[in-house]
Amino acid sequence: MTIDNGPGSVPDGNPEDLLVFCRRDGMVICPRCTEMSVYPLKDGRFRCAGCAYTFHDFTGRWINRCKMQPAQWLDLIRLFVDGIPVNKMAARMRASYETTLKAVNTLRLSILAADPTFWPLLNTQGNLKTHCRKGHGGHDDHCLGEHAPVFGLQRYDGKLFFHHLPKTPVNAILSLSLNKRVWKTLVYTDRYQDYDALFFACCSHLRRLFAERWSGGTAFLDNDVSFWDFAENWLPRYRCFTPKCCPLYLKELEFRFNHPPSSWYKLLMQRLCEFVPNPR
Ligand SMILES: [Zn+2]
Repeated sequence: MTIDNGPGSVPDGNPEDLLVFCRRDGMVICPRCTEMSVYPLKDGRFRCAGCAYTFHDFTGRWINRCKMQPAQWLDLIRLFVDGIPVNKMAARMRASYETTLKAVNTLRLSILAADPTFWPLLNTQGNLKTHCRKGHGGHDDHCLGEHAPVFGLQRYDGKLFFHHLPKTPVNAILSLSLNKRVWKTLVYTDRYQDYDALFFACCSHLRRLFAERWSGGTAFLDNDVSFWDFAENWLPRYRCFTPKCCPLYLKELEFRFNHPPSSWYKLLMQRLCEFVPNPR
């Protein structure tokens, strides 16, 4: 991405700060075998003495996914911390909307990947798998959320935690006599087992089909004022809250809720420098 850092754009960061998060105790590590005995090459890259892999500081890490310079990433993190919408971010970064959205989603993926229970939702490239198979279902060509991932919300110590529940399919939740509520593209339930609520998202067809049946019920989470104050403040900022992106938004919400805003910038730098998990 080519960005014109002219007058009015966000100030440069200190790219060296990012390298700290790519090293272990200040030492370069091999992204393939995590060996620390590596030697520098003349072109600035490194080679692993253990597995002979050639790499650079950002190889295999989230930060390596978009063609952005470290200073541009720091600008993006600053705008993300402030909750600036992507279209305004793009204008400030002097980049296209698509490029900026890709970078912001990379940042969100790095937040999500800090929880290994979410790794099965990623494909081998580290992107979210598509679960809504519209056109492949038996219900008027809609999938009714059969493959949508389900998340369990737990609240303790004043924090909130979303867990991915791979053994709980949507159709099992639909058949439970458990109150359900619709909120934006999400469906959430009343308390279930150890969870304050279960969440999932899928195409509008499912929600339209059940909206009337679910409209009268109440859920345990409805009385959680601090959750709703926070969620209603943050989630409407996302213009295209697609079902596929639901796990990204839930984990971002968890991140922002659980950490004080003063720590977001540094934590995001750290997340961005983590390795992309490889589910193979
Ligand atoms: Zn190696």
